[in-house]
Amino acid sequence: MATKTKGNNCIMLREKGKLLTLTQSELKSKMMKLSPCIKVNYQQYVRLRKAKLLLDSLRCCGDVAPSKNQAVGSWNVADEQEKDLALFPNPGEINKFVPQCDPAREEDVKRLQEFVNCSKRLLVLTGAGMSTESGIPDYRSEGVGLYATSTNRPVQYHDFVKKAEIRRRYWARNYVGWPKFGYFHPNISHITLANWEKHGKVHWLITQNVDALHYKAGSKNITELHGSAHRVMCLNCDHTMSRPDMQVLIESYNPNWSAQSDEMAPDADVQLTPEQIEGFNVPPCPSCGGNLKPEITFFGDNVAKHVVDFVRQKVDECDSVLFAGTSLQVYSGYRFAATAQDKNKPIAILNIGPTRADKIAQLKINAKCGDVLPKIKLWR
Ligand SMILES: [Zn+2]
Repeated sequence: MATKTKGNNCIMLREKGKLLTLTQSELKSKMMKLSPCIKVNYQQYVRLRKAKLLLDSLRCCGDVAPSKNQAVGSWNVADEQEKDLALFPNPGEINKFVPQCDPAREEDVKRLQEFVNCSKRLLVLTGAGMSTESGIPDYRSEGVGLYATSTNRPVQYHDFVKKAEIRRRYWARNYVGWPKFGYFHPNISHITLANWEKHGKVHWLITQNVDALHYKAGSKNITELHGSAHRVMCLNCDHTMSRPDMQVLIESYNPNWSAQSDEMAPDADVQLTPEQIEGFNVPPCPSCGGNLKPEITFFGDNVAKHVVDFVRQKVDECDSVLFAGTSLQVYSGYRFAATAQDKNKPIAILNIGPTRADKIAQLKINAKCGDVLPKIKLWR
């Protein structure tokens, strides 16, 4: 339990049995060291965040002169926890972004099982369809994707680089969306692929997703083809930081700004009106004052050549390729299907709806990833 102290510029926290007295800046640096995207740190982060809110409220309200290290009665932990838990996707809504489709056929599961077990060095490439079952929307799914349900469009790279107003809009929306986006959990498909890696089945995993859910599930040999929403880079120098650190930085530049939105796009972007964005300050790079950008390959930008070369090499090393939860409409992913075909590597596709590579696949299954992958038994 956080308590306020006499003098009101410090906060006392009990940590591992010890009572610590922290100033505002010590508290902030403690928060910055944590990565709240990692579930295990979540409770600790929430505790520190509560302490910070308490200090902020004390500063706003003036000195209420508590006489001793007094526990704050109005600090209702149960209410707070409920509010924090509201950041997690509601289990009832989790399938909101998964397109309608029939249950997987048993024979399809068997055919994919055969395909996977015949492979000794399987390359897996995943797309947004993996994460819709975690509650994250995609762009293209029929009827439920962002393009079908919203007029909101993803930011274009050149707009972001050239226009301060676009950067301001982007970061304001991303700042509002992050507390929810950062806490999405991996689903059974992510966990299954992590298990396959542990069994030596997956030679390499490539994902088009920026949500870090494969990492959260425990996969290690991953290439994030389009970067990650969990990292931030400077466009001017080589400074990088974690996205949770960026949240703290933005917060410090916007102590009195807040906005809310219910909509969520695939990269933590939410819909805000121009009026809501008014007064939002974009923090500059702490190292050089330049412009900060999430380490995501935006639309209109290209995947770095060394990443493409690396993935091509992985295609070369593997003996077959599985595409899961991707329509391969974007060339950055499709080109590896073409490479696999050139090199005579068998291709299997698991996706709801048609994909650009259906014609060159040995096996195509029209089903939900979470309905098929966990049913696959590995026998070697
Ligand atoms: Zn910089």
